[in-house]
Amino acid sequence: MCGSNCDLFSLMGSRLNNSQGFRPSKKIGVSTTVMKCENCGLIFSNPMPKIDTLGDHYDVPAIDYWNKLYFKKNSGYFEEQIDWYRNLSPNIKCAKALDIGAGIGKCMKALSNAGFEVSGIEPSPSFAKKAIEINLIDPDHLKICSVEEVPEDYFDFVTFGAVLEHLYDPSSSIQKVMKWLKPSGLVHLEVPSASWLVGKLVNLTYKLIGQRYVTNLSPMHPPYHLYEFTLESFKKNGERFNYEIADHKFYVGDTFLPIPLDWFIKPIMQGTKSGMQLAVWLRKGK
Ligand SMILES: [Zn+2]
Repeated sequence: MCGSNCDLFSLMGSRLNNSQGFRPSKKIGVSTTVMKCENCGLIFSNPMPKIDTLGDHYDVPAIDYWNKLYFKKNSGYFEEQIDWYRNLSPNIKCAKALDIGAGIGKCMKALSNAGFEVSGIEPSPSFAKKAIEINLIDPDHLKICSVEEVPEDYFDFVTFGAVLEHLYDPSSSIQKVMKWLKPSGLVHLEVPSASWLVGKLVNLTYKLIGQRYVTNLSPMHPPYHLYEFTLESFKKNGERFNYEIADHKFYVGDTFLPIPLDWFIKPIMQGTKSGMQLAVWLRKGK
């Protein structure tokens, strides 16, 4: 993301291809190494496990990939982001929007209901089928492909839900998206934060009991996260590729700790910006 060379990468520990539990060294599995860029804070798998086709991971029945609750129709879905977009771009009417990783089409539907002219890209045929089936997405506006062959300088708004952390080369994907955006257009991203407090506590516990493992990422098991990001990683990437951070927010999310601990740890995470998820808005240069 920042373009630094590997002299600035530091070793964090190993990551197994399944749930690690309290003593990962007692578990059987394959591990890869997790590293951190000391220049921008990006956390990544190195080596990067590669699959032959995206379908190996994501062409599974939608019902197996998402929690059942995700299929429920909730009217407020993506409303916060739509209001946020309008605050950041108050003069754009009937914005052309693109949803990358459209999944079962919930976000496309919300955008379309809010008056956006919306297109989507979804590489998983089984997810796209569900989008057309249950959210009545127009198949002509939903491409079942990887991110390519999209017109340049065309969209006002691109949303990249929970996508970037799954891609091998997030920096080149952001560059592609910037090409599709009009000048001053906005990208909305939501990614796992490299500063998640609970992850740091688990890593500290592993260290104290002499385990060489870390809990970051899931390079070889669902949900297949290959990266965790910092605000700095986008800031430095933007300096290289002509965009700036228009806004951001950290979401606390789940802590995966015993519920009684949540009442005091969640406010700490809120106050120290160490929540699980980072939402960031990038504005393309003129
Ligand atoms: Zn970096």
